Order: sequence, then structure tokens, then C-alpha cells
Amino acid sequence: MDKKTGVYICTGCGIGESLDIEGLSKVATKEGKVPVCKSHPFFCGPEGVALIKSDIENEGVNTVVIAGCSSRVNYDVFDFGPSLLMERANIREQVIWCHPANDEDTQMMAEDALRMSLAKAAHIQLPEAYQGQNMVKTILVVGGGLSGITAALEAAKAGYETVVVEKSPVLGGWMNSLFKQAPLKFPYDSPEDVDIASRVKELEAQSGVKIYTNAEIKEIAGAPGMFDVTINQNGNTIQERIGSVILATGAVPYDPTKLEQLGYGKYANVVTATQMEEIASKGKIVRPADGKEVQSIAFIQCAGSRDPEHLPYCSVECCVESLKQATYLKEQNPEAAVYIFNKDMRTPGQNERLYKRVQQDGAIFVRGEISEISEDDDKNLIIQSKDVLTGSTISTEGVDMVVLATGMVPTTAFGESLVAKAEDSEEVEATEPKVEEILKSNLLNLAYRQGPEMPTLKYGFADSHFICFPYETRRTGIYAAGSVRAPMDAASSIEDATGAAMKAIQCNELTAIGNAVHPRVGDMSFPDFAMSRCTQCKRCTVECPFGAINEDDKFNPLPNPTRCRRCGICMGACPERIISFKNYSVPMIGNMIKAIEVPEEDEEKPRIVIFACENDAYPALDMAGINHLSYNAWVRVIPVRCLGSMNIVWIADTLSKGIDGILLLGCKHGDDYQCHFVKGSELAGIRLGKVAETLNRLDLESDRVRMEQLSIMDYDQIPAMIDGFAERLEELGPNPYKGF
Ligand code: SF4
Ligand code: SF4
Repeated sequence: MDKKTGVYICTGCGIGESLDIEGLSKVATKEGKVPVCKSHPFFCGPEGVALIKSDIENEGVNTVVIAGCSSRVNYDVFDFGPSLLMERANIREQVIWCHPANDEDTQMMAEDALRMSLAKAAHIQLPEAYQGQNMVKTILVVGGGLSGITAALEAAKAGYETVVVEKSPVLGGWMNSLFKQAPLKFPYDSPEDVDIASRVKELEAQSGVKIYTNAEIKEIAGAPGMFDVTINQNGNTIQERIGSVILATGAVPYDPTKLEQLGYGKYANVVTATQMEEIASKGKIVRPADGKEVQSIAFIQCAGSRDPEHLPYCSVECCVESLKQATYLKEQNPEAAVYIFNKDMRTPGQNERLYKRVQQDGAIFVRGEISEISEDDDKNLIIQSKDVLTGSTISTEGVDMVVLATGMVPTTAFGESLVAKAEDSEEVEATEPKVEEILKSNLLNLAYRQGPEMPTLKYGFADSHFICFPYETRRTGIYAAGSVRAPMDAASSIEDATGAAMKAIQCNELTAIGNAVHPRVGDMSFPDFAMSRCTQCKRCTVECPFGAINEDDKFNPLPNPTRCRRCGICMGACPERIISFKNYSVPMIGNMIKAIEVPEEDEEKPRIVIFACENDAYPALDMAGINHLSYNAWVRVIPVRCLGSMNIVWIADTLSKGIDGILLLGCKHGDDYQCHFVKGSELAGIRLGKVAETLNRLDLESDRVRMEQLSIMDYDQIPAMIDGFAERLEELGPNPYKGF
């Protein structure tokens, strides 16, 4: 497309009073030679928007550069349709709101921001939406328990064809094994009759739902909108074309045989919470050893949970289950003694009302660690515990029955992805399922080059980003719901399944029009491979966090555009630099770097390029501006989709241009916070480690390139981060390549 660029410099929000607008216009007209350059005191107002529209309609402007506020605001106001190229130069939040007005350095900053935007605008092209073959919007739900039933019902009620695959002969899952369910309705203080049968009935009566019981997934091939799913039902093979998938295979109770110190397997009167349901559903609560009616009971909370030797996490629903089971006995015999040994009680949501009721019923709560459980000659149990509050050891004797509130292990923890870990690490082997168990479990059987099962978080849960995108997994178009995603109770599972159904619907709709799903919703670009120069190094295939790239039979990368999240990590990984997007590429950023004006050494105006990830760092920089926090004006900010998209050549380009330092600002990674593209910022750190060695070899101090992790909320640390780096650069002196 022949570009006709219009530059629109807004003078509102204090810009006109802080900058030399004429000087800024000259950057566009004289240097950039743009045919149209206008300023207006209020471009986001109706008059300003009309002015731009008029140029588009009457002057043939097809590439608009607006110098003003951040691209994170007013994007709807400045939406002039999909056939127009749009670029924003952020001279408000990142220039005049955090730097002194009418100052030479502030002016230079604004001019460079405009130069970079013009360089970008000159390079970008209009993305064309990807259209797959025979796309459908059918939703597959794997697992027919409470979460699966809810997700399927919600999706079907919203008008989407739904297919449910359940491995057992009936739907209902774990709920089928309950005597009563924890309260889901007001006043939330008493167990309720299990309502799973009515939910199953509702699903069976719902139009647009196909249910396969006694069935398993043999294979899922393809990509969102075009998954080809092979189902094995009683030896028969069924094929379904699917748009998106909800994984709702739930969790299983922690293996109680590993809890020998709590007497399980040694004493018949030590049972699990699941066994307690069975006992209660038979009528009178009697102890397994001799059928004696239970007069006293002890619940041991966190049996396996919150224990580094077993499950390090809280399993969430076990406290509520014990409270519910305490009422079973109190209803049978209000005088019965009920002890609940706990590290502390956790009763999220409305469950607090049940907790209160059990307290009022006279249960005794002991906040203590169990040191031993033994049995006397009459098969009564003796519990030794250390009271956390007083530090004293308590012996509770003559207890008829002990119930272990065992934790939950997600079914994905048994997935293929753990095989390698379990084989490699003694630590993992000690705390996670054994290899034989792992090999047994295949939930999805993905025909992906990256493996047949879901990559998981630390403890085997299928979620990929618990902070911003719950339900999302690292396989685009496949969403996790319920306790396979995180430990949760029935009430949360219902809510969660509804959320996952919404995400699956969103994926179907966005994919159908060629848009990216979260987090770059609306982006139509996708990676393009100049395959003739590919060396088949496989870096793109391996480093894509979302399993978007397979390999063809000649071992060339085979991208699946609808699996792609458009993060650009493959672009950063490719040593041949042959991967690009229509609106994001290695040369595009290279041109932006080249556009920065670098003053001569004697001008003593060093320059720092910040590559800022658009998810956390760029918004944090905006937040710093909104809060008028001031920092060194040597910086020039280049937003990147993810730090993982950083190609090492940008470091070389920047330093050879004479720029004195490079600051990489990306999302935090690790277990407590997460990179929006899962491992992008971590990969950038690894790549940077390699750059440091090269820089040192070239006698160019590796300190000139620094990486910092931050979340949006860390915006107040930005001035210290930037100023500290600038001070270090002053110590190092000018880049020796300056002026070459
Ligand atoms: S852009 Fe991201 S999601 Fe897409 S193929 Fe590349 S690395 Fe994978
Ligand atoms: S990283 Fe680049 S060179 Fe390597 S396989 Fe992928 S496209 Fe080919």
C-alpha cells in the first residue's frame, strides 16, 4: 500500500504549554517529510477527531500518527477502522507529565518519540486476518463432573454446540460419592442434599449437547476453531470437529497410604473424608473396626496439604468438608464429641456460616500439629498434638474414629509433562506422583510437537496465568475449569466453569474473525516465516510458550496461526531473523532505534533505550507519568510485545548507534507473579546472559545492558530504577562506539 502519512500533534493536557510545537512539527515535515501535519488543542474531542477523519476522507491520509497521550488511552476515540495504519507517539504520560516544561531535554525526548513513531509507521503494514478451513464453534468439555456439567450447560445455553466426554459410565464425578453436599444456598449453615443428579438431568435435556460416557479422548489434533478430536467410546471411534476445549477433569484425593504417621492403613478406625461419606450414607455412623456407634470423632485437617513432604499447597475444600461431616455426627448424637485438629481453619466465601454453626454445635477446635496417632486395646484412638498457641503437648484419648481431611491432586499432575521431571529430580519424585502413575494418565492426547499433555504450574495445576488470565492454559483454545486448575470447593467450581465457558466462547468468536485471543485481543497479525532461509534450528518451535509451532515432515517449522498468541517470542528466538509480523518485526524496531538522535559525546547528553514490555513495563511507565514522578530524561522508550520478542540484534543495533545503555523492562517471572506470555521475560534474561559474555569480549562493559522486572504496581520504583542505571552509565563514561 502506498502510504500517505498524517501527523497530528495534540496540544491539550499541558502539551502545548510544555513543548515547542513548531519544533516538533518540523521533525514531521522537514525530517519526516510527511505531507500532512496539524496540531489541535483537543484531538480526542469531536472537532479534533473530525479533523483527522476529514483528512482521511478528503486528503487520502491512510497512515495516522498521533503525538499526544499514551496508546493505552483513547484507543476507541482514535479508531478509524481496520484499513488504516495507526501509530501513537506518547508525549504526554512519558514525556511532559514526568519531565520539566520548556526544557531542552524534554523537547528532545518528545522529538525522538515522534521520530520513532514515524520510523515505525513507515515500516508497518496492515495485517490480514487469518482464515482457517472449515472452522466451527463447537465446545468440547473433557470431564463430566460438577465443573464439566456446569461449563457444558453454560456454553449450550449460550447457543454453542457442546460435546461432553466422560470416562466413567455416568456423569457427576466426585459429587456422586457424597452423602450430602456443602451448602450452596442461603443460609449456608447446613449440608444440603446432593443436587448433582438434577444438574445431570438438566444437561441431558439441554438441546445442542452430545454426551459420551465411558469415553476417552484418543487424540486432539489441529488448532482453535479447527480441532479434530478422536473419541474412543467402548472401543468405537468417534470424530468431532471442535472450536475450543474446556478441560474439567478435576482432582483426585491425595493418596492416604502416604500418611502413615497419621495411622492410615495401620488402624481401621482411621479413615479418609471420602470413606466418611460412604459410612454416613449407609445410615448410622459406626466405626469400621467393630461397628460400634461413633460417640467421639476427630478430624485431622491438612492431611497431606500445606506440608512440604506431601502437598505444599492448601487444598481449599477440606476444612469445609470436615465441618460438613461434623454436622453428620452432631445430627446423629448432639452429645457426641467432635474435635477438629487444624493448622488454621480456612472457610472461603459463605462457608464461614457453616463454620460458625459447627462452633455453636460445640465442636472443639484444636490448633495443633499432630505428632502421633496410636490405638488402645479397645481400638480407641489416642491423638498426640502440639498446641500451636500454648506450645504444650495435648493427648486426646478414647476417640472412636479419626477422619483424615486429605488434600486434592489435580488430574493434570499425572500428565506427561511430569515424566521428565520425575525422572530427573529426586525432590519431585518424593512429593509428586510416581512415574508409573503419570504414564497411565492421558487426558487430552494432543497431537502437538510439544507433547500430548498440558504444561502445568509448580504443583501440577493446568492454569497458566493465575493473576490476569485464570482459565487460560499454555495451549491456546484449551481452558481449564474447576479443581484441575486450582484447588477449589463446589461453589467456586461452578463459578469457575462458567468463566471457562465464557473464555471458550470468546476464543471461538475471536478465532472465527482471525483475531488473537488474550492478551492481544483484536490483533490480526501472525508470524510470517521466510522459510527459504530457515536452518531448522528448532528454536522457534521449542521457545514458543504456547505450542503454536509444529514441524512438517521435512522438519521445517509449521506455524498454527490460531494457536498463536502473537507474543513474538519466536521472532526474538530466531537466529536467522526470518520471523516477522506485518506490524512488528526485527527491522521495524531496528528502524526505531536508528531514528533516535544521539548527541555528540561533548554535548554530555547520554542516551538510554528502554525496551518496555507492553503488559507491565509500559503501563508502569505511564503510571509514573500519571503520578508526575520524574526520572532521567536520557531515556527513549520502545514498547515491545514481550521481552521474549527481543532479538539480540537490537542490542547490537543500539550499542553500535552510540547509545550509552539499554534497559530491558519486563514482567516479573517466577511462582509469585507471572510474565503475561508465560516465559518471555525469563527467556530474555537467558538471552541477555549470553549477550553479556559477548559484550565483555568486545571490551564493551556488560553493565551497559540491564534487565529489571516489574509489575504495573511497581511504577513508583521507576525513577530509582532509571536514575540508578543512568548513574552507573555516568561512571562507565560514553559508549566508545559513539560517533562511529
Ligand atoms: S508469536 Fe508467540 S505464540 Fe505465536 S508462534 Fe511465535 S512464540 Fe508462539
Ligand atoms: S528459529 Fe528461525 S531458523 Fe530456527 S527453525 Fe525457527 S524459523 Fe527456522
